[in-house]
Amino acid sequence: MRVLVTRRWPEAVERALGERFEVILNDTDKPLSQAELAAAMGEFDVLAPTVSDCIDADVIGGGDRVKLIANYGVGFDHIDLAAAKAKGIAVSNTPGVLTDATADLALTLILMAARRAGEGERELRSGQWTGWRPTHLIGSALRGKVLGVVGFGRIGVATAERAKHGFGMTIAYYARGPKPEAEALDAEFCAELEDLLGKSDFVSLHVPGGGDTANLIDAAALAAMKPGSYLINTARGGVVDHDALADALKSGHLAGAGLDVYPHEPQVPEALLDLENVVLLPHLGSANAETREAMGMRALANIEAFAKGGDLPDPVA
Ligand code: NAP
Repeated sequence: MRVLVTRRWPEAVERALGERFEVILNDTDKPLSQAELAAAMGEFDVLAPTVSDCIDADVIGGGDRVKLIANYGVGFDHIDLAAAKAKGIAVSNTPGVLTDATADLALTLILMAARRAGEGERELRSGQWTGWRPTHLIGSALRGKVLGVVGFGRIGVATAERAKHGFGMTIAYYARGPKPEAEALDAEFCAELEDLLGKSDFVSLHVPGGGDTANLIDAAALAAMKPGSYLINTARGGVVDHDALADALKSGHLAGAGLDVYPHEPQVPEALLDLENVVLLPHLGSANAETREAMGMRALANIEAFAKGGDLPDPVA
């Protein structure tokens, strides 16, 4: 069975894959072009892409050999599932193993935004720091503040747990229906997004990207947020209208934001780059050694199950 891995994976996973299959790795880690991805569809049995690859209908239509797209990552909005399904191609992902890492990063962004850590570091490194004073770079406390979680799945719940048990925050959430995990967190269910936005001091986004959630946080949603509140996004860039976000940050309606993801990565919306009150991280949600290896092993488990003709552990289509 021939497997194409589109980017560098952790060494241990690449080794394990190589012991089991005929694998083409990407030693240069340079992203493949759309034409190269399309050609791969006719040359391999398994395509193992990640979020930086756009597996659209043109790519999927590029050949008839691939029968499994084994994504490295939990999000799959970069893969055209309908096109894959139409060609009988299975799709798998790597859920669960990156929940802790991504929730940790959501808290990193909450803390950095609330405590103006990016501003402080920029000030210090540029030689502008004049010393401790009672009114210097004053941020916001977390204890007693409301964290509004949008999308109460694995990462949303893990973020809420950290915020409540670690930092004394109160939890509210918006989902398509009440969730059983809410009880242990004493979390308030909001059936309307606007209701959640109006009562939250911090709003953290944890819905999948794609059609359903595109621009969920648009100008109207931002206007519905509490004055002086913060927006945190570790979900997908397309969930937020970044021009409207920049306006809300410039006007002071929002006190700050913390972002890990952008609509057209690696581009970062120009309007945000000059703003002091937004923390901008380069899609680091799952970026710790343990998690990245576990993600690879999970992708490998799906490829192995496929090779044996068994059920995929993590099917998404
Ligand atoms: P998950 O367990 O599937 O959680 C997603 C939740 O969003 C589900 O509970 C789902 O509700 C809810 N949802 C979906 N559409 C919604 C809508 N229109 N309105 C309200 N709620 C909606 O997924 P996860 O493992 O927590 O991951 C969430 C997302 O995080 C991924 O899809 C990925 O894009 C992103 N992510 C980013 C990073 C990073 O590096 N920054 C890392 C990992 C993941 P139901 O329960 O009703 O289906």
